This record gives sequence, C-alpha cells and structure tokens, in this order.
Amino acid sequence: MPDAALVGLLPPGLSPQDAAALARLAGADPVIVQDLARDGRTADLSAVTDPPALRFHAGIALPGPDGQSLGTLCVLDPEARPEGLTLRQAEGLATLARQAAREIGLARALAEARADRDDLRSITEAAPALIAALDHDEVCRFANGNFSRWFGLDPSETVGRPLRAIVGEAAYAARQPLLARAFSGETVSFEAPHPGGDGRHALVRYVPHREPGGAIVDLHLLGVDITAEKEARAALADSALKFRAIAESMPQMVWSTLPDGYHDYYNPRWYEFTGMPDGSTDGEGWNAIFHPAEQPEAWRRWRHSLATGEPYEIEYRLRRHDGIYRWVLGRAMPIRDPRTGAIERWFGTCTDIDDQVRARETLARNREVLEAQVAERTAALAEANARLTAEMEERARIEEALRQSQKMEAVGQLTGGIAHDFNNLLTGIVGSLDLMQTRINEGRTQNLSRYAGLAMASAQRAAALTHRLLAFARRQPLEARAVDANRLVSSMDELLRRTLGERVQLEVVVAGGLWLTLCDPNQLENAILNLAINARDAMPDGGRLTIETANAHLDDAYVASEIGVRAGQYVCLCVSDTGSGMPADVIARAFDPFFTTKAMGEGTGLGLSMIYGFVKQSDGHVRIYSEVGAGTTVKLYLPRHRGRIADEPAPERDLPVPRAEHGETVLVVEDDATVRALIGETLTDLGYRVIEAPDGRTGLRLLESPGRIDLVVTDVGLPGLNGRRMIDEALAARPDLRVLFITGYAENAAFGNGHLAPGMRMITKPFAIDAFAAKVRAMIEPAQERRREG
Ligand code: ADP
Ligand code: MG
Repeated sequence: MPDAALVGLLPPGLSPQDAAALARLAGADPVIVQDLARDGRTADLSAVTDPPALRFHAGIALPGPDGQSLGTLCVLDPEARPEGLTLRQAEGLATLARQAAREIGLARALAEARADRDDLRSITEAAPALIAALDHDEVCRFANGNFSRWFGLDPSETVGRPLRAIVGEAAYAARQPLLARAFSGETVSFEAPHPGGDGRHALVRYVPHREPGGAIVDLHLLGVDITAEKEARAALADSALKFRAIAESMPQMVWSTLPDGYHDYYNPRWYEFTGMPDGSTDGEGWNAIFHPAEQPEAWRRWRHSLATGEPYEIEYRLRRHDGIYRWVLGRAMPIRDPRTGAIERWFGTCTDIDDQVRARETLARNREVLEAQVAERTAALAEANARLTAEMEERARIEEALRQSQKMEAVGQLTGGIAHDFNNLLTGIVGSLDLMQTRINEGRTQNLSRYAGLAMASAQRAAALTHRLLAFARRQPLEARAVDANRLVSSMDELLRRTLGERVQLEVVVAGGLWLTLCDPNQLENAILNLAINARDAMPDGGRLTIETANAHLDDAYVASEIGVRAGQYVCLCVSDTGSGMPADVIARAFDPFFTTKAMGEGTGLGLSMIYGFVKQSDGHVRIYSEVGAGTTVKLYLPRHRGRIADEPAPERDLPVPRAEHGETVLVVEDDATVRALIGETLTDLGYRVIEAPDGRTGLRLLESPGRIDLVVTDVGLPGLNGRRMIDEALAARPDLRVLFITGYAENAAFGNGHLAPGMRMITKPFAIDAFAAKVRAMIEPAQERRREG
C-alpha cells in the first residue's frame, strides 16, 4: 500500500513519515499492535519515543471498488492495550472502514463527473451550434452561449427559463407538436425562422435523452444557423428559374446536360421541331434524330468536348417531325464552378440554318458559273488584246514606212534646195572663171581681179551654205571656249543695228555678275544674228528687239516637263521682239529643218534648226514663247562654265599675211594630192620649210624620227590611221607638238564635242588662205617666243 492515504484526524505532532509507517500496519482485518514501544517495527518511531508517545495501534485497510485499498483506518492510543480489541470493537472498526471507503469513492466519482461536465461545457461553447437541454417541464436546464445569443439572452438568464418564454408565444405554438413528438421518443428535425423575424434561419433537432433504464429524462436541443445556405439556395433557384424562362422563350432549340453529357433538359422548341414526346430524348436518345451521315462525327465531337471542356460546334442535319432533315448549327458551352473550375453543366443550342446553307450552296454554284464566265471573257479579252497588238505593230510598220517616205521627201527637198542654190552659186563661179579665161586667152588682163572677186564671193556664199547645212546636221566642228555672253552680245551691237535697220529699236540688257558659259562663240554669234533677222522679218513695220542675259537655274520641276534637259545652272540669252508672233502649229514646227512660212527665196527654214543643233551640241536648251500679235521670245540656255576666260587670240582676218622668218618647219599630212599641193605651196610662199606626207602612217614615221617640226597641219579624215590618232601617238615622242587640224563635217566625231587640247587648233574646210596663214603664224609664234626666251 505505497500511496495509501490516512483517514481520519491525525493526532497533533505525528509526522507524515511516522503516519506512513503506521499506515503500513494494516490489512483486510485489523492489525493490532498492543504496545508500540515494545514492537520492533514501531519502537523507534518518534511518535512513540516522544510525545504524543503513542503505545497502541489498530489498522484496517479501506477497501476500494476494484479490490485495491483506498487507505488505512487506524485506532491509536497513548496507553498500551495488552488486551487488544474486543470482537465487537474489531467488527465496529471493519464497519467503519467500509463506510469510510464508500464515502471516499463517492467523493471521487463526484469530482470526476464535475470535471467531465466542465469539458463538455467548453466543447459545447466551442461548437458552432446552438446547444441546450430541456427538462420534462420544458425548462431550460442547460444552454451554450450560442443558444443564448441566438435569442438575445444572457447565458445566466437562459438556464431555468421555460422554452415558451425563450422563443415567444407564436414560435412556441409552432414547436409544441414537435416537442410532444420528441418527448415521446422521436428525434425531430425542422427548419425554423428566427422568432424575431430578422431573416435568419436555423436547422433544429430535438433529440430525446433517455436514462439507462430507457425513460426519457429530458430533451437535447441542437441548432445550426443555415441563413447563408438558404440564401444561396434561393439565389440558385432564382437563376435556374431565370434560365428556364430564357430557355423556354428562345426561338432556338435549347438543351442542357449534366457534366457527364447526360441530357436532362430540352426546351419546348426542341420537342416542337422533333415531334418527340417530352423526355424521350433524355440521356443519349438525341443522337438517333441526327442524319445518319453526321451521327458518327457529332458523337466524336461531343465526346471530345466532354473530355476536354472545349466548346462544341457542328453543323448537321436534324430530322424534323415531318421526317424532313434540316441543317442545324449545334453549339454547346460548359458552365463551370467559379471557385473550383469544375464543369457543372453543359448548355447547348440548335439553330435551324437550313435556309442559309441552301443559299450558300446556291451562291457557290453561282460563283462557279461566274468564274466560268470570267474565264470565257478573259480569253476573249486576250484574243482582242492580241489582235490589238497585231494592229499596233502593223500601224507602227506603216508609220515607219511613212516616216521613211517623209524623210526621203525631206532629203529630196534638201538636195533640191541645195542643188538649186549651188547651181546659182556655181553659175556665178563658173561664169566668172569663164570670163577670166576668155580675157586671159585674149590677153586682156586689166579687170581680172574683179571677176576673181565675183567668183570668190559666190564661193564664200557656197561655203556659208554648207556651214548652215552642217549646223543643222549638228556636225559642225565646234571650238568651245569659255565665253562671256555679255561681252559677246555687246560686241555685236554695231552688226545688229546695221542688220535690223532704222525702224527696229534695239535694246540690250546685260545682267551683272553673269556666269561664263562654254560654247563656240562664233556659233553663238551666228545664233543671235539669226534670231535678230527672224525678229526683223516679224516686224516689217518696225518694233523693238530686246536682248537680255541672265543667270538661270533650271530646277527638277522644270526639267521634269522638258525632254533631254539636265537640271542645273545655265546662262540664259533671251531675244524678244514685238512682232507678229507665231501660232501654236508654227511654234511646234519652227525648229524643223526647212520649215519656213516665208516666201520662196526669202527663207531657207534653216535658221532655227541650226540654232537648235548648236544649243543641243553645247549641252544647252532652247525654248520659244510666242503669242500671235504680241511678239516672240526665244530663250537660249547654255551651261554655266566654272573655268576662267582664256585670252582672246588677236583678230586674225585684218592682219597682213604674216611671213615666216626663222625657217620654221611645217609637216603637212593630207591624202588629197591637190589640197596637199595647194597647202604646201601656200606655206612655201609664206616662207616655211614644208614636209609632205600622203597618209597617217607616213606622217607618224616622220614625227617619230628626229628633225625639226614646229607645226603639223593635218587633215582629220585620213585613210587608215586618221589625223587625230596619228597625233595622239606622236605626242609620246613630241609632247609639245602644235597641231592645226583641217576638218570637214564628217570628221567632227573624232573630237567628241569639239573641244581641243591646248596647243591644238582647228580650221574648217573650205578656208580662205589668209585666214589659214594667220592661224599658222599665230600658232608658231608663241613657240618661237618661248624658244627665244628659253
Ligand atoms: P526662216 O527664217 O528661213 O523662215 P527659221 O528657221 O529661222 O527659218 O524660222 C522658221 C519659221 O519660224 C519662220 O519662217 C517663221 O514662220 C517662224 N519664226 C521664226 N522666228 C520668228 C519670230 N521672231 N516671229 C515670228 N515668227 C518667227
Ligand atoms: Mg530665219
């Protein structure tokens, strides 16, 4: 009995150790120690040796419920009792021990029950439920906080109050039969609105509580607040109602399925269309109404959507109540739980699209017809196009032939005109020569120079005519130089006044800071003179001729509207008159060679065409502005030149024929024997030493061999190696070589645009001997100067 408790009052001064030692001396029957001081187990205990100086002990164990001892009941006495206990005393002690043990057991059970009850209370307080107990008189015996609060009571007020007083009269009336059922042993559940009418609802359960014997002692009352669930249910019912209202009123067939695809709803349109009895197509019955051709595909897609949650869409034929299949567009969408995303239902529609499908088919058929028609039309067009192309080619051929015949006509006109003019001139030359010959034969030589003069004049006119022709052909040899147009126009003043006569007033307006231009100044002079003559002819009754110069910039916009003109800076020469002007058709043809409105013998129609040729050859541009009755302006644009102006060679014609002084040597290369002899003789007459060569090869050999050659006079058009190339090759041996080229129009190509390197000049056939001699002299002299100075 290790933890045995001592029962009863301990005598004062007894230590717990001594008490425990004494308690150990106990058994189911009393253990008697007659004299503690004489017993070896107790003689040394302080309670024995010292006060209270105990001498007698009788101990009996207190029997517990499970056979275990609850403690010890002792009888102690300071007097030894050699007689021990009487039988009655011993029995009394045993009875007392049994009673004490029972009392202790009861006290312990009570304490345990109290602890259990506390546990229960805290559990009921923690539970989210209304919990109470009613006794047989419907008086509340127990209530948790939630229960009290539900009815707005303080927990202290609830217990002891009858249910009737708690819920109120009306609610109690409703509950009375339920209470009766519960008290008669039935568990009763019901939904109850809060008696206060605040909208809250509780799910209530009355559970009869039986005692072990089976009699119903009281009623346990359990409630759960279901306000939120009720509201959610109401909302759901509301939306289902709305869905139904919409689904029923839709013109389309509407259906709905469970998540697994089980059809559980169709709207009336479905039944109207299919003619099926209500509910007969639930589950999978719908598929039979599809056209057999579409059934497998519809199934396949529907299963796919069910498996993946992807929307379902398919066109298929659906059998109508009259057995006719009509095209329908089937569609379905899953409705998902917003929180979990799980599919709750499928909603689908079927729309009758039979009319659209048929229209679409008709359209496709029509398109085929249309495409065929287009193809047919395209072929026809291609054929027409080919015909047109052939016609155009034919026309081009005819036009080409026409152009050719017009060209022949022009050439005929040209040759006719030239032949006519030349015959006249030749008549003058031949006539004069004839006369001279006659006179020489007769020995009458006094007046010969007069006839020679006449012949010369005719010959010069012939030369001028060839020049004009060449200019028109744009084959004239140009000697382009930097030209100051202001100076050139000013120098022509006298000549122009004499040409224009008294009745035409001349005005020259020169621009300050005028740029230089690069062109052949003689040709420019000639052009201005021709324009002046045209102006004079247009002003038979007099008027005013204005010549202006200006810097001009032709921009991209201007250039875009004119063919063959480059944008950039130009020197502009503007010749205006106040004459008769030109109608549009005359302007259009004015640059054409031989186009003239003038009487036979008055105009050649070559003036403007020559100007055109010259300007184009100089990379320039020319334009006519004219108005009938008002006058005409011709503008020449010549490209700006950025170089410096070269020193003008001294005027050649007016000098006396210069003669050689130092035995200078001139190499003459010319294939025409007559011309070569004539040039040779002229040069010899002038005092030069002359070497002659009949072709380019011979000339080159002479040039490559040592020996003095101050100047080469060479024809350009030589057979084999031409003059130009001969000189190019000779320059390697004689880099300072001075050359005078004799050119006819045909050779001009050899000079590109007619621009010559320094040290080289050009003279055009036919030429006057004095002009030729002056040129030779002018070319040799600077070399002489240099040689003398060097
Ligand atoms: P021609 O002067 O020999 O007729 P052109 O080539 O110089 O040949 O001119 C061609 C034509 O252009 C002239 O016949 C004339 O009709 C017209 N023409 C030229 N310049 C003028 C002008 N300033 N005023 C009026 N018409 C002109
Ligand atoms: Mg003219």
